[in-house]
Amino acid sequence: MAAILLDVGHVTKRFGAFVAVNDVTFDVREGEVLGIAGPNGSGKSTLFNILTGIPFGRDAGEIHFRGQSVGRLKPFEIARLGLVRTFQKDSDFKTLSAFENVMMGTWCCGPISASQKRDLASAALDKVGFALERIHLTAGDLSVFDRKRLMIASALVSSPHLLMLDEPASGLTKPEIDALRDLLLELNASGLTIVVIEHVLPLLMAVAQRLIVLNEGRILSQGDPQAVVRDERVISAYLGG
Ligand code: ADP
Ligand code: MG
Repeated sequence: MAAILLDVGHVTKRFGAFVAVNDVTFDVREGEVLGIAGPNGSGKSTLFNILTGIPFGRDAGEIHFRGQSVGRLKPFEIARLGLVRTFQKDSDFKTLSAFENVMMGTWCCGPISASQKRDLASAALDKVGFALERIHLTAGDLSVFDRKRLMIASALVSSPHLLMLDEPASGLTKPEIDALRDLLLELNASGLTIVVIEHVLPLLMAVAQRLIVLNEGRILSQGDPQAVVRDERVISAYLGG
């Protein structure tokens, strides 16, 4: 079995009396695509926030990335170790060009020259299929799907060990979701480990080798995606929620 890249043990997060993430334990293995699904409000984004050191932190639990405890590190320190995520909401700089947006992602590459940064940004744009002749367009004028591709390129620019995507398919049309699926499969085939959150299941079923379903902050079911979606508890959480 592949090595464990990210090891999450008994992570819990409360907002007041409300438990948003409740005793969640799982791991991410080198080279896999792990899907995380669950109804709205089930704690998916909060889980990503905890894993990437977003300042509100966690109330309990241990997080190890590449063998190192990261539970007390700051977001930029975690990103520098190679755990990079995207956000559910738009996080691009709308007045900057596509190229400048991706250049922003090079901050966690360490001390490299401006020309090396430009090369990395060009390579990342190429990886996500963003045409070179369009890189000077203003991000705010691009389509939703192009902006998603920029977001992924910005995350890829520092060659992360683990890429975590929070609902990358939201707002996309069916053909765009198919293109996103192909992109994720290509990135994974090139060796990238990916964790992808989706509220809707079909994209996850097409890309994930393992699936976790969260409900009310807890892991309801995890394992082989085909088995997980047939799990009675998962069916009733989706139909009931
Ligand atoms: P998901 O991404 O699965 O839709 P979230 O992780 O965003 O769910 O939210 C899980 C629950 O935690 C929701 O009920 C949400 O309202 C609550 N929540 C998230 N962030 C905060 C916060 N900063 N303060 C209070 N409640 C929050
Ligand atoms: Mg969310």
